[in-house]
Amino acid sequence: MPVTTGIVIAGAGFAGIGMGIALKKAGYHDFVILEKNGDLGGTWRDNQYPGCACDVPAPLYSYSYELNPSWTRVFAPQQEIWDYLRACAAKYGVDQHIRYGCTVQRTDWDDAARRWGLGTSQGGYRARAVVSGGGALHIPSIPDLPGAADFGGPAFHSSHWDHSADLTGRRVAVIGTGASAIQFVPEIARQTDTLTVFQRTPPWLHPRPDVEIPARVRGALKTVPGAPRALRNAVYWALETRALGFAVSPKLMAPLEAMARRHLESQVADPGLRARLTPDYTIGCKRILLSSTYYPALQRPNVNLVTDAITGIKPDGVATADGTMHQADVIIYATGFNVIESVNALNVTGRDGRELKQEGIEAYHGITVAGFPNFFMLLGPNTGLGHTSVVFMIESQIQHIMSCLRILARDQADTIEVSAEALRRYNAGLQRRLSRAVWSAGGCRSWYLDADGINRALWPGFTFEYWARTRRARRGDYAVAR
Ligand SMILES: Cc1cc2nc3c(=O)[nH]c(=O)nc-3n(C[C@H](O)[C@H](O)[C@H](O)COP(=O)(O)OP(=O)(O)OC[C@H]3O[C@@H](n4cnc5c(N)ncnc54)[C@H](O)[C@@H]3O)c2cc1C
Repeated sequence: MPVTTGIVIAGAGFAGIGMGIALKKAGYHDFVILEKNGDLGGTWRDNQYPGCACDVPAPLYSYSYELNPSWTRVFAPQQEIWDYLRACAAKYGVDQHIRYGCTVQRTDWDDAARRWGLGTSQGGYRARAVVSGGGALHIPSIPDLPGAADFGGPAFHSSHWDHSADLTGRRVAVIGTGASAIQFVPEIARQTDTLTVFQRTPPWLHPRPDVEIPARVRGALKTVPGAPRALRNAVYWALETRALGFAVSPKLMAPLEAMARRHLESQVADPGLRARLTPDYTIGCKRILLSSTYYPALQRPNVNLVTDAITGIKPDGVATADGTMHQADVIIYATGFNVIESVNALNVTGRDGRELKQEGIEAYHGITVAGFPNFFMLLGPNTGLGHTSVVFMIESQIQHIMSCLRILARDQADTIEVSAEALRRYNAGLQRRLSRAVWSAGGCRSWYLDADGINRALWPGFTFEYWARTRRARRGDYAVAR
C-alpha cells in the first residue's frame, strides 16, 4: 500500500528544506521530503572539494528569515553552509519530515483520484500535491574520453571528491576550468608535485573580495538590532546592479568586462599566457567567476595550463591533440553537471499521459506547467541566475506555491493548474526578452542554451521583478477545480 500524505517534496537541499519550512510556518504538517541521499544539504553535502565555498556573499546566500550573524568569511565555506542548512531544518522541525535514501523514480498523475502517485526506491507514495526540489547540479557530467576506464590511478569528479587519494607529491591532472576548478586549483597546487590544468574555454574572472569576518564584527551582527538585515540589503542591491547588462542591454556589460581585463592584466604578466586566458565571448554569456588566487596558482612553477584538445586517457596520463602525453597519477574531472538528466530524474507524467520531459522546458514563472495539476517546480526553467543568489529565487517560488495552496484551501478545491494560455503568453514574452540578451548575442555556447540555442536556464531580469511577479498567484492565470 502506498504511503498517503498531503504533499511530497522531492529533494532536501536549499529548495526542499525552504519549502518544508514555509509549510511548517503556515501550520501545515502533512508532508514528507523524499531525499535520495543519506543526509540533507544537496550541493553543500556533495561538494567537499578543497576551497569549496559560495560565490555570492553569504549574508545573501541564505534564507531571508534566517540571517546568520556567525558566517566566518564573506564567502562562507561549504561546511558552514551545510551546517547552516542542518540547523535551519532542525529549528523548524523539518528534519522530522525527511525520508532518507528514498529516490523518486516516477511521478504520475491519477486524474480520476486527483492524486499524484510516486514510485520510489522505498515503495509508493500518494499525495495531493508534489513540489520538485531535486536541483539541477547533482549528477556529474564526465566526458566520454577514449581510454578513461584504463587510467591507472584514482580518477574522480569534483563533486565526489576522493578524500582517500592523497595528492601530496603526486602528478595531478585537472580537466575543466569552471566554477569548481577555479576554487580548488589554488588549494591543491601547493600540495601536488605537478598540476596540469586542461582548459577548453577560459572563464571571465573578477577578483574575489573574500575576507575573514572578524569576531568583533560577528559580535556586532549578533547584538546590533537590524545590522544583519542592513548588511544583507547592501549586498543584495550591490549585486543587483550587475543585472543591468542582463536586464537592460548587453552594452552595459562593458564595465564588467573592463574589470575582468584589468584583473587579468594585473595578475598575469606573460602576454602569451594572458592571451590563452582571455575569453573570446562577451562577459556574462557564461557565469562570471570570482577568484583572486586562480591566476597566481596557474603561474606557479609546478603548474601547467594546457589548451590543446584532449584526445584520450592513457593508463599513465592524458594525451592531447599536439601529440603530447601529460603524465598523471590522479585525474580530477571538474567538468560540471548533467543538467538535463538531473531535471528529468523525477519522470513526471501529468494529465493525459503528458510528459514533463517534453512539456516542462517551459513553465509559468518556472514553477507551474499546464497539464500538471498541483505540481510545482523550484528552480525550474528560466529561473537560474548569473549575478546573484538563487536562494532569493527559491524563496519567491515558495511564496508563489504557498499562494496556490491558499487558493486551494480557500476554495475547498481539489486542483490548481496554470492555463495553457497564461503559460504561452508568459513564455512568448520571456523568449522575446532573452533573444536580445547577452546569452544569445554574446557568442558563446554554455549550458544555459539548449540544443536549438534557446535559453531554458536563466531569468533575464532583475530579481526584484521576479519577486513582484510571483508574489501572489493570479487567479485569472490558474484554473481551479473541485
Ligand atoms: C559547487 C557549487 C557552488 C555553488 N555556489 C552557488 C552560489 O554561490 N550561489 C548560488 O546562488 N548558487 C550556487 N550554486 C548553485 C546551487 O546548486 C544552488 O544555490 C542551491 O544549492 C540549489 O539548491 P536545490 O535544493 O535546488 O538543489 P540541490 O542542492 O542540488 O539539492 C537537491 C536535492 O535533491 C536530491 N534529489 C535529486 N533527485 C532526487 C530524486 N529523484 N529523489 C530524491 N531526491 C533527489 C539531491 O540528492 C539533493 O539533496 C552552487 C552550485 C555548486 C555545485
